[in-house]
Amino acid sequence: MEKTKCVICGKQITGYGNNPWPLADSGRCCDNCNGKVITARFERLLLKETGSAASAK
Ligand SMILES: [Zn+2]
Repeated sequence: MEKTKCVICGKQITGYGNNPWPLADSGRCCDNCNGKVITARFERLLLKETGSAASAK
């Protein structure tokens, strides 16, 4: 069975791992780090959708 290391924390991943984007462009990340990845991805999508809404006021 292939062993994969998390590209974010460096720990060995059990299972298939997760897509680390946008925190990393390649490799896999563990479930623990996936929480940070999802948060970062969500924030990134929000920024993309709202565009310059923060400075529109
Ligand atoms: Zn990790």
